[in-house]
Amino acid sequence: MSKACDDALDRIYPFLDGEMTWIHRAKVRWHLRHCPPCGDLYDFEERLKVRVGEGARVDVEDDVVARLKGFLDENGCR
Ligand SMILES: [Zn+2]
Repeated sequence: MSKACDDALDRIYPFLDGEMTWIHRAKVRWHLRHCPPCGDLYDFEERLKVRVGEGARVDVEDDVVARLKGFLDENGCR
């Protein structure tokens, strides 16, 4: 996985939560648009966030991040 993808992953939760300055949001957005595997990842995260927001409060972050990193490796995100 590239450094850019790592950075995007590190920022995806603050990005989704809106806890981010516009300059960082712009950087993440740019990466998501130009890196299809990370773009897919973002779609997945958005759906996940909706589901978690609707349902029980479950602490899934570590597991989810591990699976997302596997997903990115499989999809050759470099
Ligand atoms: Zn990427």
